[in-house]
This record gives sequence, C-alpha cells and structure tokens, in this order.
Amino acid sequence: MRLRNKPWAKEKLEQNPQYVIASPEQYKGKWNELFGNEHPLHIEIGTGKGQFVTGMANANPHINYIGIELYESVIVSALDKCIETDVPNVKLMNVNAKDLLEYFAKGDVSRVYLNFSDPWPKTRHAKRRLTYKSFLKIYEDVLVDQGEIHFKTDNQGLFESSLMSFSEYGLLLTFVSLDLHSSDFEGNIMTEYEEKFSAKGSRIYRSEVRYK
Ligand code: SAM
Repeated sequence: MRLRNKPWAKEKLEQNPQYVIASPEQYKGKWNELFGNEHPLHIEIGTGKGQFVTGMANANPHINYIGIELYESVIVSALDKCIETDVPNVKLMNVNAKDLLEYFAKGDVSRVYLNFSDPWPKTRHAKRRLTYKSFLKIYEDVLVDQGEIHFKTDNQGLFESSLMSFSEYGLLLTFVSLDLHSSDFEGNIMTEYEEKFSAKGSRIYRSEVRYK
C-alpha cells in the first residue's frame, strides 16, 4: 500500500466518532453497547480503504463489522466509504492488530477477515505475517469458541505459508479455493486489492478455517 501524507486525516477521523471508535478499550467485553444490539461481531484486519467491510455491512445488516487499519492516511478513505454507505452496523478502528487484546475480550468476535494481507515474503519477516502463529493466538483470544478466520489473497507464497501456519496451529480447514473467481462461491465482496489484481489476471486464493 503506497502511503500518501494526509496531514488532515487525523482531524477528519476525530470529527467522525460515529464511525471511528476513538477509545475502543472502553468497549472491551461489551461491544453490544456500542452497536445497540446483540448481533455477532466480525472484524476485518488490515481493512485498507474499506470497500470490503462497508460492502459486507451493507449486505448483512444483522452482523456488526469493525474494520481495523494501522494507518490514518488509509483508514480515512474507509471513513469516506462508511459515510457514503451510511449503515449503522460498521465502525472503524485505527489501531495495530498486535494490540487487539487491549480492545477485545475472549468471545467478543465471531469471525476475523484477513484480505490481501501484506505478504512479507522474506523468511526473516515471517513473524510479521498476519497469519503467523503469534497472530493466530491473538485471534483465538478474542474469538468465540469455534471462531473463524476467512482469508483471501492473490499471493501464492503467502497463501501456502498461511495454510501451513493454520495447520500447525491445529485449525480446521472448512473451505479452500485456488481460484475464487472461477469457483461457485457466492456472495463474494471484492476488496480494492482484489479488484486491482484480478483485473491484471491474478488468481485469487481463499480459505476459511475454524478453531477447534
Ligand atoms: N484489505 C485491503 C484490500 O484488500 O484492499 C488492503 C490490503 S493492504 C495490502 C494491507 C493493509 O493492512 C494495509 O492497509 C496495512 O496498513 C494494513 N495492516 C498491515 N498490518 C497491520 C496491522 N498489524 N494492523 C492493522 N492493519 C495492518
């Protein structure tokens, strides 16, 4: 993701607290209070410009969504999509996924989405991959029992290493496609990266895994 300097981004995020959660730690263990309902909570980590999370929220009004993104300059575009989509079941958090335990208690989250996560192809950077075992442990500690991770990427190396990581962690593989757009999978909502890479002819890999 090329980062553009947007000095105004911080202020814009602060001016839209109905979408950008300013102090997420206050909702730990009680996210239903923020959304005003008892619907399941799905989070997307590395939400980028927000097309997926806002599209999913629009399509699934009985699920609550939070898009989590590290960079202000990127999440501000997701904020624009939230404003455009104007649905009550999507929020954003400008935080690092490694700190999820500060914001979510065990069982707060029903599903984690990882879409086109940074591949970190060098072996010495493997620990930075969002599917590395240390991240799988963090997700386990915020997910419900038998919680799920849904993952898609165009990067074959990341997909292979992620399947190995899931397997070594003891997760149950419940769906796999080596060519999502030619499969019979229904209801796919494309991310910005997915649109870009599939337009260039890349195949999209997708998997679903579940904690046992
Ligand atoms: N999911 C989007 C898509 O498919 O279009 C964006 C993909 S982009 C390659 C990966 C995104 O993950 C970037 O916006 C990056 O800032 C974000 N990201 C990477 N590591 C993160 C972390 N530890 N916590 C939160 N976001 C992270």
